[in-house]
Amino acid sequence: MKPFDYTTAQDVSQALAGGGAGTAYLAGGTTLVDLMKLEVMTPRQVVDINRLPLRGVSADRDGLHVGALERMSDVAGHRLVTAGYPVIAQALLRSASPQLRNMASIGGNLLQRVRCGYFRDTSTGCNKRQPGSGCPAVDGENRGHAILGTSDSCVATHPSDLAVALVALDARVRLVGRGGTRDVRLADFYLLPGDTPEREHDLRPGELVTRVTVPPLPWATRSAYLKIRDRQSYEFALASAAVALDLRAGVVRDVRVAVGGVGTRPWRLPAVEDALRGKAARPEVFEAAAALAVESARPLAHNRFKTTLVRRTIVRALTNLVGSK
Ligand SMILES: Cc1cc2nc3c(=O)[nH]c(=O)nc-3n(C[C@H](O)[C@H](O)[C@H](O)COP(=O)(O)OP(=O)(O)OC[C@H]3O[C@@H](n4cnc5c(N)ncnc54)[C@H](O)[C@@H]3O)c2cc1C
Ligand code: SF4
Repeated sequence: MKPFDYTTAQDVSQALAGGGAGTAYLAGGTTLVDLMKLEVMTPRQVVDINRLPLRGVSADRDGLHVGALERMSDVAGHRLVTAGYPVIAQALLRSASPQLRNMASIGGNLLQRVRCGYFRDTSTGCNKRQPGSGCPAVDGENRGHAILGTSDSCVATHPSDLAVALVALDARVRLVGRGGTRDVRLADFYLLPGDTPEREHDLRPGELVTRVTVPPLPWATRSAYLKIRDRQSYEFALASAAVALDLRAGVVRDVRVAVGGVGTRPWRLPAVEDALRGKAARPEVFEAAAALAVESARPLAHNRFKTTLVRRTIVRALTNLVGSK
């Protein structure tokens, strides 16, 4: 690990004053410290933000608000989340391990880096880690990589399960910097890799994520997160689906669908939603709609199976929800 300076911020303005290029904020540290040990991330200064008042889970007419420093396990078990937005609780509970969830924060989860093996191996090239050094995954080991939103520069999947659920629910993140405060839709916050895969999101140097807001969606009580992976726990998604369903008398009145494990960012599927809205909740309708999810897919040598897997994941998630209350 490269040497670095460590400070603890006592309030938001102190954190912002210490932030900027060459500085990393430390929340749970479960991504940051890992990557610093591997020398994939090499900040000159680390600012511990754990004393900032960025906690709390609450609800008002603007929706559900979650502080960026809330721990994943606390949010997964919070009554407002389990009752109103089960898809969020399930996405969190299917992430990482209980120990990691006790330590890791909501803001840190949304800002975690990709799990591509080449990104974490400094002996190889990687455009995301070192712009212009190439992408060995395109012709190399790419079983776990993306089929949607890829470019010739990078094919890594976005790793956060929580982000998939939040994108399905149209959540916004609040970003606070020295220049002021802005609220950004999470769907717009994450960037496609294009020619600049090193830019993963629209967070400016020194900005803090302070909270997440999920707009009210009464029918999200019927929602779920289905995650398919090689192991039952402690494993990232090969394919996942976050679905919320407004079902009346067997007809889909409204629906939200986003998928994970297959896209370079959490992937909302408006075409699938349009194909479901107003239709009878039947297997053939679900299958026809789910097929639209992969219309623009660009599979690689080892991940072609994901085009089928993600369609089946969507269909199963919808089918499970028809039978739930
Ligand atoms: C073995 C393992 C398995 C895992 N499995 C999964 C999984 O299945 N699904 C999943 O979703 N995740 C998984 N994770 C990732 C885990 O969820 C993240 O490591 C964790 O959520 C990061 O949170 P943290 O608070 O520890 O962030 P940190 O490590 O402290 O920070 C992560 C990044 O975010 C920045 N940051 C943190 N908070 C803020 C803030 N408020 N404002 C601005 N910048 C900030 C940091 O500077 C850093 O760059 C796994 C991790 C491990 C190690
Ligand atoms: S897929 Fe992205 S993260 Fe992985 S090696 Fe290629 S550029 Fe790097």
